[in-house]
Amino acid sequence: MNLLEGSVGVEDLVLLEPLEQEPLLKNLQLRYESKEIYTYIGNVLISVNPYQQLPIYGPEFIAKYQDYTFYELKPHIYALANVAYQSLRDRDRDQCILITGESGAGKTEASKLVMSYVAAVCGKGEQVNSVKEQLLQSNPVLEAFGNAKTIRNNNSSRFGKYMDVEFDFKGSPLGGVITNYLLEKSRVVKQLKGERNFHIFYQLLAGADAHLLTALKLERDTSGYTYLNQKVSRVDGMDDAANFKAVQVGAWGGPLDCPRSPGFGFEKGGVELAPHSSASDFCSLLKSAMTVIGFSEEEIQRVLEVTALVLKLGNLELADEFQANGVSASSIRDGKGVQEIGEMVGLNSEELEKALCSRTMKTAKEKVVTALNVIQAQYARDALAKNIYSRLFNWIVNRINESIKVGVGEKKKVMGVLDIYGFEILEDNSFEQFVINYCNEKLQQVFIEMTLKEEQEEYEREGIPWTKVDYFDNGIICNLIEHNQRGILAMLDEECLRPGVVSDSTFLAKLNQLFSKHDHYESKVTQNAQRQYDHTMGLSCFRICHYAGKVTYNVNSFIDKNNDLLFRDLSQAMWKAQHPLLRSLFPEGDPKQASLKRPPTAGAQFKSSVAILMKNLYSKNPNYIRCIKPNEHQQRGQFSWDLVAIQTQYLGLLENVRVRRAGYAYRQRYEPFLERYRLLSRSTWPRWNGGDREGVEKVLGDLNLSSEVAFGKTKIFIRSPRTLFFLEEQRRLRL
Ligand code: ADP
Ligand code: MG
Repeated sequence: MNLLEGSVGVEDLVLLEPLEQEPLLKNLQLRYESKEIYTYIGNVLISVNPYQQLPIYGPEFIAKYQDYTFYELKPHIYALANVAYQSLRDRDRDQCILITGESGAGKTEASKLVMSYVAAVCGKGEQVNSVKEQLLQSNPVLEAFGNAKTIRNNNSSRFGKYMDVEFDFKGSPLGGVITNYLLEKSRVVKQLKGERNFHIFYQLLAGADAHLLTALKLERDTSGYTYLNQKVSRVDGMDDAANFKAVQVGAWGGPLDCPRSPGFGFEKGGVELAPHSSASDFCSLLKSAMTVIGFSEEEIQRVLEVTALVLKLGNLELADEFQANGVSASSIRDGKGVQEIGEMVGLNSEELEKALCSRTMKTAKEKVVTALNVIQAQYARDALAKNIYSRLFNWIVNRINESIKVGVGEKKKVMGVLDIYGFEILEDNSFEQFVINYCNEKLQQVFIEMTLKEEQEEYEREGIPWTKVDYFDNGIICNLIEHNQRGILAMLDEECLRPGVVSDSTFLAKLNQLFSKHDHYESKVTQNAQRQYDHTMGLSCFRICHYAGKVTYNVNSFIDKNNDLLFRDLSQAMWKAQHPLLRSLFPEGDPKQASLKRPPTAGAQFKSSVAILMKNLYSKNPNYIRCIKPNEHQQRGQFSWDLVAIQTQYLGLLENVRVRRAGYAYRQRYEPFLERYRLLSRSTWPRWNGGDREGVEKVLGDLNLSSEVAFGKTKIFIRSPRTLFFLEEQRRLRL
């Protein structure tokens, strides 16, 4: 099927015939194998990770895509970026670019490509360039602190990110705002086999000069740090792993020969901190990126001190200590470590030890101090480390925002770029997967509503009658999770806040009771009630039938993760530190604040940030990039059919094409359409002096195709791809 000249397969899946899963995959495979990684579904871009540097980026290509309209050149991320930017600049429509896909699919690289395209085409001048630099340099800084090597991706973002870039009326950038979602903070204290902690720790140890290292009281060798050597094997799942095997099993075959991502710098080489970049460059690179953004020398130093603090906390060894009364207690074994921490951040080491090894409970009348046993104290230490790190990360994001923020009152045009984790089905799915999948469920809702809405609006704009398309409305699943009183998140909050004995299993019992009849909810209990015996489902699990497939969640530690509470003793100890940054991270440690209400739960916070995000997205014109990971080995050229099949299903690509085709599969402005096909009619070839629309009417009339199309105000709409095939065929015969 060679439809468009020089193309492999079809460049737009709307033209696919027959429209089924197999030909769709075949088409992606064929194109991937010819290094054509981009394919459209109308204005949606599919991108398959090439795992190699393709010679299709850079100034030359940017210039080319700037000058042509969407369908005139091969599908490309620059074409999408161009459409979005031009529509923002010339038609004053705020844009958002939604990039989804699973880990390693190429989302973050795609977002960088979009940004570098926009940076290259938007305005010039010293002032503008300095804004661009700041916006771009936020990337390496956030990547150093928020990315890590995982089995799926050597440079995996462990947080979700949404960035609004704001422009003036001419389309020159003014600044922006970054929102981050849900940093995977458990990584600070624990990593899976074959994975690493956040890049910054390694970069700091390897890259700091001797002077800095001494100042931070660190050693260069990573093997000396407990938190950098916490390899645990993945827990075996009890769920329906077999259904999704291809997704989960990340074969890790020794050192990867993973090509470095292309240095998508802004014009001149932007600073890039890839995980493998020579460590000795690191400090100067990170520092220079931070300096460009506007961090002071002192702030940088403070940030690194807090980073070092986390490593040192991890090395505090806690030991059992039996008290005379038989109560088990704990203490810190290594006095030197706690001493060093005390000196570095201005903390009394005894107080720190007390905060780690005991817990103060306040009742109405009195304060009771209980000793923690060694397990509890270790838990407290790890909780503290995770909290310090994630708060530090938030602080960095806020600090960047302070630098790039745009003054109020300036009239702005906005382009938002969303780079967020895709749908996740692991062997063992926990609270994190639950909220991530909830977010994807919401994004799917946006996708369906906006693609359909957009279609509908276009038909209205162009004055073309059409009938509504039916599609699966996932509102019912969103509701199951987010309903204010009766949703799973609400139930979880209720359980977390309820006095008395609460546990993950009382939470599950509640769900089972409430949702036993819900079409999208299952558990062992509800299954047994219906006499369905499914051995893949554990007793401590519930399952949700998401739009993308069924996922089984294990409720273990849901309550704990949702509570996300730090013992008050710890926050109070941190607040007492003389270190200004550390102290500012724990405002609730201020005794004056102690009576404040408890902070919202992790689930509630996530839900409200998703709500804000949705509102933001709905106010903009959406552009979609759907990223696909072609194989589990980060290998170029390998196209794993099953793996891609599952992703196309999550992404709902087939449904997307169907929706797109239900009305009019193909549309184009009159002028380029006439240009392409006028050779098919004697009336318009070789010369045509009339208007574009009249010309198109002539061509199609002469070919007896008038009943197959609709004439809009500015565009021609073609109902079936067959008509387009026919036109292409005729054109080829004529050439
Ligand atoms: P995600 O953000 O979806 O987890 P990344 O964007 O980090 O995935 O991509 C993972 C890796 O794949 C990158 O580090 C890079 O090596 C490679 N990669 C992704 N997109 C491209 C591309 N367009 N060209 C070359 N390599 C790419
Ligand atoms: Mg990423």
